[in-house]
Amino acid sequence: MITIIGAGPAGISCALYLKRANKNVQVITNDKSALCKAKYIENYYGTGKIIGKELYNNGIKSIQELDIPVIKDEIINIQYNDSFILEGINNNYNSDIVVLALGKINNRTYIKGEEKFIGKGISYCATCDGFFFKDKKIAVIGNGEYANKEYEYLKNISSNIIRLNNDDINEIIGTDKVTHINLKNNTNVEVDGIFICDDTIDANVLCLKSGILTNKDGVVIDENYQTNIDNIYSCGDLIPGIKQISKAVNDGMLVANIIISRR
Ligand SMILES: Cc1cc2nc3c(=O)[nH]c(=O)nc-3n(C[C@H](O)[C@H](O)[C@H](O)COP(=O)(O)OP(=O)(O)OC[C@H]3O[C@@H](n4cnc5c(N)ncnc54)[C@H](O)[C@@H]3O)c2cc1C
Repeated sequence: MITIIGAGPAGISCALYLKRANKNVQVITNDKSALCKAKYIENYYGTGKIIGKELYNNGIKSIQELDIPVIKDEIINIQYNDSFILEGINNNYNSDIVVLALGKINNRTYIKGEEKFIGKGISYCATCDGFFFKDKKIAVIGNGEYANKEYEYLKNISSNIIRLNNDDINEIIGTDKVTHINLKNNTNVEVDGIFICDDTIDANVLCLKSGILTNKDGVVIDENYQTNIDNIYSCGDLIPGIKQISKAVNDGMLVANIIISRR
């Protein structure tokens, strides 16, 4: 099974070429494509002026017509055990090959004080860093499904754990490491560790958790679009280069043909 994470132009293009070469392929998406934010697209071949969301839906429809399963889920971790195990919010999925078509790495707005304490009490990944906060005071910031999962995991590590929302927080404060969170109601919460979870998992965090190398331009790939992990490929806005639909579609096609030529 080949699993493509992402149903934007890169993922859909990759899926189309793989399926037409008779490969077993599935697509998993949390429906957060950059395309859905574009009011109109006017520079893509053959569509004329089209609403971004409409083009996104057309892409999904085109692969469903080829009987490619499109699964609504958010992948939050990738592990390896004979084959890849993709851990989703709803389910786990086994796969021999994975294509990351997750879109652009998120440049989110930091909470005041956050940047200063990254690695000094602030983490984005419970499975990576939770153990460092065994029996310590932990705060999980965020209220989405991903935050729920991280909270459930961290409850095994410490019973001294609270949940907060971004909107509750004024500033993260500390000296050489985090010591407390100043809330908008002007009270302070003492903490040793803070786990920040956006509404959906950032591509950077998913890669970090899964051992996939990134740099400031995105996921690091070789000349065959393969990441530092064998049989995990990447394409589209997630890799370096121009962030445009035509480039993402081209990347997806190239990755599919590399996989086809190797199997
Ligand atoms: C406002 C705006 C306007 C734009 N206008 C234009 C334009 O006019 N012309 C143009 O060519 N380009 C335009 N772009 C850029 C274009 O949208 C992107 O280059 C293109 O969508 C990239 O395709 P992609 O498949 O790499 O990523 P995306 O389209 O971002 O798709 C990423 C996919 O990955 C999924 N995903 C991410 N993480 C997970 C996860 N953990 N689990 C499951 N699924 C996940 C998402 O749900 C989505 O399906 C615009 C972008 C924006 C934001």
